[in-house]
Amino acid sequence: MGCYLVTGGAGYVGSHLVRALVDRGDTVVVVDDLRQGHRAAVPEGVELIQLDLADRARLGEVFAGWKFEAVFHFAALSLVGESMRDPLRYCMENLNNSLGLADAAVKAGVLRFVLSSTAALFGDPEVVPIPEEAKLAPTNAYGESKLMVEKGLAWADRVHGLRSACLRYFNAAGADPEGRIGEDHEPETHLVPLAIGAALGIRAPLTVFGTDYPTPDGTCIRDYVHVTDLADAHLRVLDRLEQGSVRYNVGNGTGYSVKQVIEAVERIGGRPVPHSLGPRRAGDPAVLVASSARLKAETGWSPRFGALDDIVRTAWAWHSAHPRGYGDRSP
Ligand code: UDP
Repeated sequence: MGCYLVTGGAGYVGSHLVRALVDRGDTVVVVDDLRQGHRAAVPEGVELIQLDLADRARLGEVFAGWKFEAVFHFAALSLVGESMRDPLRYCMENLNNSLGLADAAVKAGVLRFVLSSTAALFGDPEVVPIPEEAKLAPTNAYGESKLMVEKGLAWADRVHGLRSACLRYFNAAGADPEGRIGEDHEPETHLVPLAIGAALGIRAPLTVFGTDYPTPDGTCIRDYVHVTDLADAHLRVLDRLEQGSVRYNVGNGTGYSVKQVIEAVERIGGRPVPHSLGPRRAGDPAVLVASSARLKAETGWSPRFGALDDIVRTAWAWHSAHPRGYGDRSP
């Protein structure tokens, strides 16, 4: 049992890691500015400090107040479309906050750091499934900002011995299988919650972005990975850090098309997903599927909820029980 700092622990993926840590008996301190996160996503008994990571003085106080085993860093700007409208803000804020956090960790002698990274690092992949050693060539500013953070962390390892694990997530989806927490973004841009919301009649009909891709049914193929499996990957890499810094892909290794996701939602929900067929969305590669071979070989990770139906079932349960999400949107 240990004590861990989780930034962005009130957000979608971060809150699932917080549950996993608490469930195994660890002490967790969450730092979140609650711009996207939800107080209700953080379990009772977990200290939630509302704090902008740019506030270095208060961040230093947080490190002085606890003896952390490691830092899990989720808090970031993470919308691809927004990053292409405001690239400098993405690069500045993600870099400044992430490396400021790493600096505070080093100064406090906390030398294990787990970063939420992204498949957006790979841009348009040359090889699919994308191996962990594939070329890094982001096609959007969000991906570039995470690549810059990864590079900064590599230097912090060389100079300060800060061991980091950069986990390149593919498409996080699903919800806590026990139904305690789930996905609640504003605005929501992700396929699974939008399709479920459309089927439940709590969101507008879905638009399928492009039907002329070079895929079997013409729609984009993505690698959907259950958020609980993502959380599990974070726990497993901690032990691996004893041997040095690592970079892993976290995905199922199986791709599903937009049409297959719609069919799965209709199968699980037992009702149609109202949708129309629209043009392509700028910047969407046709196929993004992960090879997580190195993660599996080196940590023993494998997805427990790898089937698309399992992912959709847990997401459906969450959205149908919480049509307004947490209902506590921050102003
Ligand atoms: N998508 C869609 N309609 C939507 C939202 C997404 O057709 O309203 C498609 C999108 O083009 C992509 C896939 O669903 O091929 C997954 O998109 P999402 O935004 O969930 O994740 P991304 O792959 O962009 O990270």
